Amino acid sequence: MDYDWDIIVVGGGPAGLSAAIRTRWVKRYKALPCSTLLIENSHMAGQAGWHGSIFTGPSWKIDPGEIVRNLTKDIDILNIPVIKDMVVRIESDGEVKKVHTYDGRVHSALAVIIATGIKMLVNERDFLGKGLNITSMGYEAIVSELRTLLKRCWEPCLIVVGSSKLENLAPLIRSLNKGGSDLLFVIEGKESVGGHNDTVHGFVKGYWGEGRIQGVHIMTGQGIRDIPCGAVLLEFNSYELRPTSGAGVWDNLFDSPFIEVDSDMQTSIPGILAAGDVTKGGYNSFSRAVSQGMIAGLSAYRYVYKKKMGVEPNLFAYRPTDFELTEDFLEIPTIGDELRPKILGREGEIMAVLGHNWSWLSGKLTGFNSISDIAAEKVIPVEALKKVLTDLVEKKLITFHAKKGPLS
Ligand SMILES: Cc1cc2nc3c(=O)[nH]c(=O)nc-3n(C[C@H](O)[C@H](O)[C@H](O)COP(=O)(O)OP(=O)(O)OC[C@H]3O[C@@H](n4cnc5c(N)ncnc54)[C@H](O)[C@@H]3O)c2cc1C
Repeated sequence: MDYDWDIIVVGGGPAGLSAAIRTRWVKRYKALPCSTLLIENSHMAGQAGWHGSIFTGPSWKIDPGEIVRNLTKDIDILNIPVIKDMVVRIESDGEVKKVHTYDGRVHSALAVIIATGIKMLVNERDFLGKGLNITSMGYEAIVSELRTLLKRCWEPCLIVVGSSKLENLAPLIRSLNKGGSDLLFVIEGKESVGGHNDTVHGFVKGYWGEGRIQGVHIMTGQGIRDIPCGAVLLEFNSYELRPTSGAGVWDNLFDSPFIEVDSDMQTSIPGILAAGDVTKGGYNSFSRAVSQGMIAGLSAYRYVYKKKMGVEPNLFAYRPTDFELTEDFLEIPTIGDELRPKILGREGEIMAVLGHNWSWLSGKLTGFNSISDIAAEKVIPVEALKKVLTDLVEKKLITFHAKKGPLS
């Protein structure tokens, strides 16, 4: 069983960030961490990185930017690699899951956490207030918002982007178009709906412009189209009704637009978890995304541990100090000779911990050689090597990948 990562998290919004952190921030004393990859197509923080998104209560408001800054800082501190790319497909090939990206690469893992929100983001953030308008969540204000925007004539056209649910709003937008702008509706999603000649089906690949929006790159079935425009309206309500992030990415795995999960954020496919706006049955919000991400991260950790070690990890989040430990309490499980050490830390940190006598080992912590292979090559006792490796695990600088199927 070969795989690149223990866990791949798709989507770097609040749900994906907190999930990725939780797979590595295993607070239990001396716990075995996971190797985790995060893939995000746009800026980190997802929708929560946009102004307008606020974490609120009746008498308080917190700018999620503050929380997101801490989440991204932790991604960095925990040395979680981030790939900026678009995930185009996720496959569940038995034990190993495969994540395909737009650049043609395939990343494999024991578990995948889908945290793709309601829409794949591109570079919207760069053009907010610079020709890119978004409708506020909820339809209460939409008519007055549309009236204001459509009072002007936008040259060469106004592009309205939404999911397939935008079709329902298109007649209203056409009728309110008092400025006489040429309109172009971009419907994102797999379903083919409507037959209007002012409508294009495809996905936004990016927005362009110098200082202000000047056009949209759209991926269509016939290739990329570059369409100039004077302004863009992103109709967010349509995505809340029908998310587009799943279109093509996981529609081979789940057949509803939102993903159904249990209370551990586990989907119907073992080893595939989901968190945040992409999940079914909730009120899309920042706090829900963060808390679901945290649960998904911990559940994925437990799933991977069981796969590799053949036993459930201990339930304690912290080492219990006020009562006797039971006989079977595992801090770090017995580390089998077949496991392959896999680097998690930074080269300098690892070298410092290893010291001069063991410095050669840092070059071996790649995940290619098993513990017994490394020991045989250097003619050192396996038990001595395991002690050093256990020390690196305690410091969360390495983890292990299984060489062959689940160990028992
Ligand atoms: C304007 C606005 C105002 C809001 N106001 C509030 C508010 O006041 N209070 C509140 O609680 N919530 C608010 N929200 C909602 C809140 O921001 C979201 O509920 C929250 O961000 C959801 O987090 P998430 O991680 O599930 O998804 P997202 O934040 O959407 O993150 C998902 C990430 O996944 C990435 N992604 C998707 N598909 C792919 C793919 N195929 N490949 C690679 N990456 C992918 C996306 O680019 C995105 O970065 C607001 C949202 C908006 C847009």
